[in-house]
Amino acid sequence: MLEITGLRKVYEGRGRTVEALRAIDLKVDEGELVCVVGPSGCGKTTLLKCVAGLLTPTAGQVRLAGRAVSGPPPGMAVVFQEYGRSLFPWMTVRQNVELPLREKGVPRPRREELVTGALQAVGLSDAGSAHPWQLSGGMQQRVAIARAVAYEPQVLLMDEPFAAVDAQTRADLEDLLLGIWRRLGITTVLVTHDIDEAVYLAQRVIVLSGAPTVVQEELRIDLPEDRDQIVTRSLPRFAELRTHVYGHIRAAKA
Ligand code: ADP
Ligand code: MG
Repeated sequence: MLEITGLRKVYEGRGRTVEALRAIDLKVDEGELVCVVGPSGCGKTTLLKCVAGLLTPTAGQVRLAGRAVSGPPPGMAVVFQEYGRSLFPWMTVRQNVELPLREKGVPRPRREELVTGALQAVGLSDAGSAHPWQLSGGMQQRVAIARAVAYEPQVLLMDEPFAAVDAQTRADLEDLLLGIWRRLGITTVLVTHDIDEAVYLAQRVIVLSGAPTVVQEELRIDLPEDRDQIVTRSLPRFAELRTHVYGHIRAAKA
């Protein structure tokens, strides 16, 4: 579904050059849930922006369902970390979720259906007429997730989507995402700095090295498919996997 080859990104500023990504090679299968982790500043956000067609790579290529990505492709949805800034404050929750569907040219009755379904999926059926600023942080992030899901993307990209909410909300949002992913089978790439979260959510964890950034390690998460915050996280295999990822991140920093 997603094929990233030799992806390189160099930021050129006034007299300052930053090689954010050296050469990233990564394939994501249809319906897969992949988490990307790596040291702070290693280029995770840069990678997602290149994949989303929001940044032009310096070299290399991103292909979505066989087609080269050269701008935001129609089959992709992105959820950013700063949900507060990604929702329009003057629009209601429903209008925010509906906006990309209007731009996609989805007819009105189908739009209504998709928005209602997405708000239901994130447990916000009652909040449709509220404005984002009337909601808690966790609820705003659920709106951002609903907007992405309503769009029916082939690929969902998420950049540290749960970093700004409290621990309990975070656990709820993780399970919400897993539920939606299981039900809809959307190919998902989630960037996180939280190793436990990566192991808990993913079928595969990609560890990026420190700069100059390459894929340091790919790890298949062979935990039972049904994940549970308490049961899964207390499995001996969970501890082994997180220790393994921690080791690689430490090596990446060194
Ligand atoms: P991460 O998301 O892993 O923390 P980023 O992708 O945000 O990393 O950044 C990777 C590197 O690229 C950092 O050194 C950062 O300072 C640099 N960088 C990010 N965006 C820009 C930009 N617009 N201009 C110049 N340098 C940038
Ligand atoms: Mg980032």
